[in-house]
Amino acid sequence: MKKLICLIMALLMIFMITGCRESETTKDGKLSVVAVSFPEYDFARAVAGDLANIKMLIPPAGEVHGYEPTVSDIKAVSNCDLLIYTGGESDTWVEKLLESSNGKNVKTLAMADCVETVEIHSHSLDKYTFDEHVWTSPKNAISIVNAIKNALSEIDTKNKEAFEENSKTYCEKLTELDENIRTITENTDKNTLVFGDRFPLTYFAESYNLNYLAAFSGCSEDTEASASTIASLIDFVKENKIPVIFINELSNTAIADQIAKETGAEVKTFYSCHKVSKDDFEKGKTYIDIMSRNIENLNIALK
Ligand SMILES: [Zn+2]
Repeated sequence: MKKLICLIMALLMIFMITGCRESETTKDGKLSVVAVSFPEYDFARAVAGDLANIKMLIPPAGEVHGYEPTVSDIKAVSNCDLLIYTGGESDTWVEKLLESSNGKNVKTLAMADCVETVEIHSHSLDKYTFDEHVWTSPKNAISIVNAIKNALSEIDTKNKEAFEENSKTYCEKLTELDENIRTITENTDKNTLVFGDRFPLTYFAESYNLNYLAAFSGCSEDTEASASTIASLIDFVKENKIPVIFINELSNTAIADQIAKETGAEVKTFYSCHKVSKDDFEKGKTYIDIMSRNIENLNIALK
């Protein structure tokens, strides 16, 4: 963190000396939006379409937890028309940047401010904080999309109607996604998901009345699960004939593999969308495309 503060201070000096604050909007007349990670990038893209240049700061498949901004990230943030970020544990650096004079004029939107947050215990911060993975419930995604629409409409009033139209279309698809998931969760007696991994789906689970067991809480930096945790997961899977052990996208499968080997369950990926793969990003896959992949596996897991 010290390194980061030094970097911000050094950049502040450079900006103050050279006065190089240029507006990105002047280049092609389009709004410039900076999104820190994939969910907010996808929602902004859905609302703005071609009417904005949208930059995702964390590269595809990049580590979202513990990310440190680069010099060009800080420049992009200080020059943008709208910055969208999580507002949680993984991007506390944003708040620090905004407190500095370099970030003071930037219009911002934190996804966590768009929804009701849920408290969890953070091991890395050693205190209670809220779970930042607010977008994992499609209902919350709708609230976030609407907040982005309002923010963009305030900055770029002449395109208000287009933003309105685009967000309406996207929210209809989100509603359909929500209904498709609900069809599965409301038509089964089973309601427990087992993760041989971290669990970033607090909001998803709450939205569909699901319980969960996971090797780690939250989505933070723990890497070794205790032997007793793994043993109790194995017992639970055996006793309840759980057919699927989930892992997160782009994650380590070791624990899930171990549980699967002991129990005969299958290992499947659950996409939280916190990270996006390079391939999905290049193909322009959306939050809805990626979240829809969970439906089939959810169906198998809750059968
Ligand atoms: Zn995460």
